[in-house]
Amino acid sequence: MMVKVFKLLVKKAVRKTFRLFNLEIVRAASQDKAEYRPRKMRDALDMDGAGVDIYMYASPQDVLNKRKDFERKLKSGHYKLESFSCPICSNDQDWLPVVSSKEPPFFQWSVCKRCGLLQLNKRLSDKDLNSFYESGEFHEIISGGMDDHTRFFDERMQAFFFIDIFNKLGCDANKLKILEIGCGSGGVLFELKQQGAAVRGFDLDPHKIAYGKSHLREIEVGDALKMGDINYEDFNFVLISNVLEHLASPKKFLSSLSARIKDDNTKILIDVPNLEGSHNYSSRSFLNFLHISHLWYFTSISLERLLNASGLKVDNIFNRGQSMSLICSKSDAEMQNTNNSYSLTISSINYANYKLDKYNVELAIRKATALGATMCKTGGK
Ligand SMILES: [Zn+2]
Repeated sequence: MMVKVFKLLVKKAVRKTFRLFNLEIVRAASQDKAEYRPRKMRDALDMDGAGVDIYMYASPQDVLNKRKDFERKLKSGHYKLESFSCPICSNDQDWLPVVSSKEPPFFQWSVCKRCGLLQLNKRLSDKDLNSFYESGEFHEIISGGMDDHTRFFDERMQAFFFIDIFNKLGCDANKLKILEIGCGSGGVLFELKQQGAAVRGFDLDPHKIAYGKSHLREIEVGDALKMGDINYEDFNFVLISNVLEHLASPKKFLSSLSARIKDDNTKILIDVPNLEGSHNYSSRSFLNFLHISHLWYFTSISLERLLNASGLKVDNIFNRGQSMSLICSKSDAEMQNTNNSYSLTISSINYANYKLDKYNVELAIRKATALGATMCKTGGK
């Protein structure tokens, strides 16, 4: 009897330890970021009804204050919205509107009918967008409530996706030299360094770098593409994670990156939200996937089209559900991507809308069926 009780206790303890272990590792590899975010951030997800959730990471109190400030600036004309042409094909008239925000001044997301890129084609002007980032307002509204420590942790978790990719490519992380552009607080690099990689990182946000410096010294404030002392051929990988979707001129950025890379030995690892996996994002609505600081939503085809137009070719694609990673290299060859990007974008949006609103679709079918039955009984009166 005693032995049985003892065995049971040991089993329970092992299970508990395993669960703790799982929390660290399995959730780190989870595709749902909200899984390991602190509770107060997840609460904010339910604040906005089914509207476009531009305040997703903020705590409720931060949200209320910062949202009011931001909306005041929009209403008073301090911030202005402008219409933009497509960054890939320069189209400025052939759009399929997808969604506008519920309240004025109506941010507008549309799909370019020529190249299939889903984009925020009515948005803050470039000048306002810069001020939105540089004043720290972006951080306060979008990541408000996410303290430095949590953000660093969040970045560290991201590193496990990249370590997994390096493994799949047969690369030993401890032999790699990695440069990250837009490294934030350097959490990803911190974790890669723990694996033995040689790292270097740049970010334009002095606050994030100042915090990260307390964890690793290899990061600094600056624009890595403008620094003459960086030899890109010294690195095996240039990491660009959660950057491209924020840039007003992604083609210009990628073209200058391509110009600085000498050959095939330096690969680029790009990580962006994945429109094809947007149905994984939220159980509530496709609209929650959209975000005012994300100017572009790529599918594998529209991103390849942008890369090809910038002197880069795609070597591998890793689908991680709501995000995707691409390995690219420099290419001087003229490339014409003629795949049907428009169709893929539309079917991704349609699928997400259907899957996430499945309950409402089924409810509507039930209502219609019941109405049909009533009409049959009453002869349609
Ligand atoms: Zn286009």
